[in-house]
Amino acid sequence: MDLVIARPEGLYCPLGDFYIDPWQAVERSVITHAHGDHARRGNQHYLAAAPGAGILRARLGQDVNLQTLPYGEPLLHRGVKLSFHPAGHVLGSAQVRLEYGGEVWVASGDYKTEPDGTCAPFEPVRCHTFITESTFGLPIYRWQPQAQIFAEINQWWRANANADKASMLFCYSFGKAQRILHGIDASLGPVLVHGAVEPINRIYRESGVYLPPTIYASEVKKHDPMMRKALVLAPPSAGASSWVRRFGDYSDGFASGWMRLRGTRRRRGVDRGFVLSDHADWPGLLWAIKQTGAERVIVTHGSIGVLVRHLRELGLDAMSFSTEYGDDEDTTILEPEGAEVLA
Ligand SMILES: [Zn+2]
Ligand SMILES: [Zn+2]
Repeated sequence: MDLVIARPEGLYCPLGDFYIDPWQAVERSVITHAHGDHARRGNQHYLAAAPGAGILRARLGQDVNLQTLPYGEPLLHRGVKLSFHPAGHVLGSAQVRLEYGGEVWVASGDYKTEPDGTCAPFEPVRCHTFITESTFGLPIYRWQPQAQIFAEINQWWRANANADKASMLFCYSFGKAQRILHGIDASLGPVLVHGAVEPINRIYRESGVYLPPTIYASEVKKHDPMMRKALVLAPPSAGASSWVRRFGDYSDGFASGWMRLRGTRRRRGVDRGFVLSDHADWPGLLWAIKQTGAERVIVTHGSIGVLVRHLRELGLDAMSFSTEYGDDEDTTILEPEGAEVLA
């Protein structure tokens, strides 16, 4: 029996009559995390893991019809036992475990296997069928330990500060920015943030995640000398706007898994690329899949064909669902200002 099938509106549980991360408006939705391609507006009812409530309300509206469940706590709905388990991707991100008549399916949404201190670490869940992403599902994607990436960022920041230049680091405002804040050495200088980043910082801090003090960049006077020692975190869209001009001469960088690809940095036109992703790399995907013990794996987005083929070679029953999940680390497009909030 299939506990989850693909429908034009999204991934659907026929027995429970609800959708997981639907891309069209539906009555009942179960949401894995608050990135815009997974948590969309317009559903009548939302169910999500409790630690994600603050971000979901900030993005979907404070009055959204949202029910939450702590990680690991089961809910019985029309005979289907549903529970959330940490996905290690961003604050509140969850895998959805469904059980009916002894059959267990897990839909993982987006996930990352390296714990980062800003959200509950990924927890493998045993199941018969595992629904997985494959954003970085190519053997070339192998992340360095994040401590090494943070050391590179610190070194770049220190060198720029010594040369009296601000360090402008572009990164997604929800998830990546907070992970960088948590990981960098904040004693090196002031940390300024774009207006898209600070409201999310506040929600992380309220959830008990340590982030160093940050200053709204727009509150700093133009050409204030402190800017020349600062690390500035801003969404990619800000790079195309006049907002960056206030910093005078600066060095810029981009933090994303895509920086692994030669040429991406150049296309983006930034000085430095830091390979830092909130998604599992190739070994991470294979490790996670193995940990579930699943005989069947369904791939939803990313390098679908490559992962499906590889899993079949390993003897697993692998297939794909066609979905409308996007890429929350996309760096190739310069969006108009404000559009990033939906990414
Ligand atoms: Zn995501
Ligand atoms: Zn996603």
